[in-house]
Amino acid sequence: MGKSKKKFPYDVRKKAFLWSARYCCLCSKQSGLDIELHHIDPTLDLPHLNDIDNAIPVCYECHSKLEFSLLNSPRGSKYSPQEIKDRRNQIYEEKTRHLVPVIIYGPTNNYDFPKVQFYIQNNDGALNVRARCKVEIYVNHKLFGTPTRHYSGDHPWVCNPGLAAFGWFDLSNPAKLEKRPKYRGVPPDKASGKDLRLRVHLTIIDVFEREHERIPVEWYFSWKEQEWVYDP
Ligand SMILES: [Zn+2]
Repeated sequence: MGKSKKKFPYDVRKKAFLWSARYCCLCSKQSGLDIELHHIDPTLDLPHLNDIDNAIPVCYECHSKLEFSLLNSPRGSKYSPQEIKDRRNQIYEEKTRHLVPVIIYGPTNNYDFPKVQFYIQNNDGALNVRARCKVEIYVNHKLFGTPTRHYSGDHPWVCNPGLAAFGWFDLSNPAKLEKRPKYRGVPPDKASGKDLRLRVHLTIIDVFEREHERIPVEWYFSWKEQEWVYDP
């Protein structure tokens, strides 16, 4: 592979520098103009070689140490690629967490089963974000699939400050559900009395397009009360 191809595109450089606020992601020094992007694994093939996941912003000193560590010096402790990535992500998170508002989300109990109302609310007064939402439907602990579009994780919701965005999906409408081809159990609208739950993955996308993943959370349907109940 020609060396000329080992170059991060502008978009990757911009994001890496915004996400790190140009702090070195190894020694945490504010580096301003003196920041460089290092290829964590220089042996990868294109296009992964120049992926943002393979980049780490570093100062001159740390960059030369990283390059030198490839030469197999017997002294010190080398960084593993995973340690470098974890360390970098820690700095990215530190430098972007102020861009993440308080977001409240989940199913409501305003609609009658099998329709489900769902909302995402940005409780901050200033922060513009988008949110990627994936709702997985489980019947008896088997994954049935997801509702389409805005609940599939592929269509981010616009969450402007103070905005509560409401939507809904219908567990009885096959056209609006992406059923997993391998699923052989009962459909969710016929699951009366069974364990029926929604597992919600939420990822908040900040103004610099960094994605902040939340721990997935679950709601189960109480057949007796006819309502969705948060299951911590
Ligand atoms: Zn450094």
